[in-house]
Amino acid sequence: MTKLNLAVIGYGGMGSYHVNTILANENDLFVVVGIYDIDTKRQAQAAQDGLFVYKSLDKMLKDSRVDVILIATPNDSHKELAIKGMEAGKHVVCEKPAVMNPQEFKEVQKVIASTGKTFMVHQNRRWDPDFLILRELYETKELGEIFQIESRVHGANGIPGDWRHEKKHGGGMLLDWGVHLFDQLLWMIDSPIKSIETDLSFILGNEVDDGFISYVTFKNNIKVLVEVGTTNYCKLDRWYIKGTNGTAKISDWDLHGEMVIARETQGLVPPAPIKAGVGLTKTMAPPSEESTIKKELPSGKKMNQSFYQNFYHVVNSNAEPLVKNEEVLHVLTLMDDILKR
Ligand code: NAD
Repeated sequence: MTKLNLAVIGYGGMGSYHVNTILANENDLFVVVGIYDIDTKRQAQAAQDGLFVYKSLDKMLKDSRVDVILIATPNDSHKELAIKGMEAGKHVVCEKPAVMNPQEFKEVQKVIASTGKTFMVHQNRRWDPDFLILRELYETKELGEIFQIESRVHGANGIPGDWRHEKKHGGGMLLDWGVHLFDQLLWMIDSPIKSIETDLSFILGNEVDDGFISYVTFKNNIKVLVEVGTTNYCKLDRWYIKGTNGTAKISDWDLHGEMVIARETQGLVPPAPIKAGVGLTKTMAPPSEESTIKKELPSGKKMNQSFYQNFYHVVNSNAEPLVKNEEVLHVLTLMDDILKR
């Protein structure tokens, strides 16, 4: 197979992650031909890492060997870089969030249409093993019909880095992590949103949110709580999932968790009352052993291609993109509505 020549713009945390991942896992499909970064220290680092360093963006875009540019710069620069890249004849992999708002994305879509180039956003958390477990539970109905999902990511280190603290660069945790969590849910749940209430957190005193809690109800009545926190010294589970026939939790990215399913004998053997604080309760006692079965979490619904493999085949053989631009626009619109309220 003819490899695609890929050049990376922005050699920070994510740019170097892409280079390392492609070199380690995807070098049958891509050649990393070089990087460009505005910061001379990052240029020096790339050279030290054995990469070719373009002296300017223009030089990279004029290099006819480059088939694909991968944009891994702060969010406010994505639109301009993507448009320049496509107008220079390059396909584009763009980091999330694709751009700052839906209006910007529509400008990008016009250039996708006029140039015919492939533009795909790196919504990599669709491939997360914890999410793929949820997706399997959702589709197989092992818990019955899922009616409540809680999706949380928690840290205690505040907003990371420098530009993520500033509005003008597209900072804030809604755009940083919210984009992943909403993307996962909107991709999985094939039903429009009926209502959404969001409480953005500004507890750390930045001009952008340091986290948020959203309560989302879909038209099919699934209710989801989405929470991103950067001031959580004790973490809650990554996922808590309730179905009409059982409950599951996926505690962390190492996939610890449990799943408890009601047996058909549910209700025949009542739970024994337990001492609760200074009182007694049967309502809040664990169900009797006869009534439930504990099961291992499923292994997760596998994706048949990696993000990069899919991108390669979209470019070369018109494969269906696993991340579609209309899905990206949907999530950008949702986040924009939240930020405007
Ligand atoms: P970073 O600050 O670590 O790196 C950004 C790099 O871009 C820096 O080296 C900076 O010098 C360079 N840069 C800035 N403006 C530039 C320009 N105009 N041209 C060339 N280089 C430029 O940031 P990061 O954490 O790597 O984030 C970069 C992008 O990746 C963001 O959009 C972020 O949201 C995304 N990201 C995605 C994931 C994911 O899991 N998909 C994870 C982290 C970051």
